[in-house]
Amino acid sequence: MKSFLTVFMSLIVSSFAHSAEVSITMDDFNVHEETRLPADKRNEAILGALEKHRIKAALFVTCKHLKSPQDEKLLAEWSRQGHLIGNHTVNHKRFDAKVSVTDEIAEIQQCDEQLKTQKNFEKIFRFPMLAEGDTAEKRDAVREWMKKNSYRNGHVTIDASDWYVDRRLRDKLATDPNFDLTKFRDFYLQHMWDRAQYYNDLSKKVLSREVKHTLLVHYNLLNALFLDDLIAMFKKRGWKVIDAQKAFKDPVFTKLPNNMPSGQSLIWALAKESGKHESELRYPGESDTYEKEKMDALGL
Ligand SMILES: [Zn+2]
Repeated sequence: MKSFLTVFMSLIVSSFAHSAEVSITMDDFNVHEETRLPADKRNEAILGALEKHRIKAALFVTCKHLKSPQDEKLLAEWSRQGHLIGNHTVNHKRFDAKVSVTDEIAEIQQCDEQLKTQKNFEKIFRFPMLAEGDTAEKRDAVREWMKKNSYRNGHVTIDASDWYVDRRLRDKLATDPNFDLTKFRDFYLQHMWDRAQYYNDLSKKVLSREVKHTLLVHYNLLNALFLDDLIAMFKKRGWKVIDAQKAFKDPVFTKLPNNMPSGQSLIWALAKESGKHESELRYPGESDTYEKEKMDALGL
């Protein structure tokens, strides 16, 4: 018979083995946005939250926002602190009917030229709005180019609408500078937890396991204010927050799902491809329209 201690220890070990894992991947580096915090303070706040929790994120850069040596300097700080730098095109266009394969590849190449002097730059690409092409032919043509040019897809597994919460936050502050920010924080954390649960559950259903997640957040005021709280929430609720570099090593990121419409969260895409989870897949996976009513009701 096992001793009480052995059983107790194995329970502890198994509870560790089963904690879900998530990394922070941040899109749309942009130090030109007009917000309450100036660019350098916003950069410091976001990097400070990551530093506090000792985690390395991935930052996907939209190159049109790199306009001056000062911008390059703020970006270089991410490399200096050990974060991964990835490509998010020059102009952040949705890869749809208006954008050809040639245009899309030119967008990646031009941004690559601008980013390659950054110490921690890697050939990892995230599609703007997670749109991987409006036809299977276009999707596959860019995949082929990426493969030939040693580019990986910087997939999102947990998609969300932090960008919309940020927009509402900035609108609110424009009319009411003293609005209670904790109300936005609480809504934001609840929203992110809700989406994390959904995509993690979907991962278990589709892949029979929890993948190492890449959570999508944006470089904005909301995260300058609350990224620390967001990371703390995941830890408090038993998730392990890991480096983005480590998450991207999960074999799930080598998959090439053939779902149409293309893109979305990688987990959504794999669920769509399987054809087995239709009732659980809304399209698009995330949108401001899903959050609007809830935020209206809360006066946010
Ligand atoms: Zn983006």
